[in-house]
Amino acid sequence: MPATALPVTPASTPTRTILVIEDEVTIAEAVAARLRSEGYAVEIVGDGPGGVEMCARLRPDLVILDLMLPGLDGLEVCKQIQRERPVPVLMLTARDSETDLVVGLAVGADDYITKPFSTRELTARVQALLRRVDRVPDRGDSGALHLRDIDIDVETRKVTQSEDEIHLTPTEFDLLTFLAKRPGRVLTREQLLGEVWGYRDGSGARTVDSHVRALRRKLGADTIRTVHGVGYAAGDPE
Ligand code: CA
Repeated sequence: MPATALPVTPASTPTRTILVIEDEVTIAEAVAARLRSEGYAVEIVGDGPGGVEMCARLRPDLVILDLMLPGLDGLEVCKQIQRERPVPVLMLTARDSETDLVVGLAVGADDYITKPFSTRELTARVQALLRRVDRVPDRGDSGALHLRDIDIDVETRKVTQSEDEIHLTPTEFDLLTFLAKRPGRVLTREQLLGEVWGYRDGSGARTVDSHVRALRRKLGADTIRTVHGVGYAAGDPE
């Protein structure tokens, strides 16, 4: 292959590794081909237990995980790989059922995409997720934030409530921090998707709802207020 056909990547950018855990070969291959053409290193595993094992060995930068897998389903795989080491997970689901999505996001997936999807859309999601993980905290991000009885250490990404450390997924932490920095402000789902997830197309409103539910479950129902017809806010009204 001539050198000019290779993706142009700055020398300082290490190749990102993505693990695709999906038993449908045509989908897995299409996803892998597209991501490889974008410059990512991609590995494919076709079953749950193999996926968990490969994730521990490969230590990928991101996992694309199918919900319906032989051996061990996607939810269990997600739980097990997050136990080992926090890694961004994008879930693939054939079912657009609310329950699956809520459970999926509750076990530590950062986002989901419903089949059938375009590989272009998937790539955009992958890039947004990786950008978010890479985001270097700016100066205003140092120090501590407080929300009711919750203390947020932005630098160490630790959350404590009445002295107890609360384990949050990376996305839950980013969402909580974003709201806590703007006490009383009502933010729409679109604003949250744009600022926290990095999505500009307004898709995925249910992703926001599911993460808000997860935060309420972990930190108390009144941590985040629903402002009907508008969106969400944390802290007392302005
Ligand atoms: Ca499947």
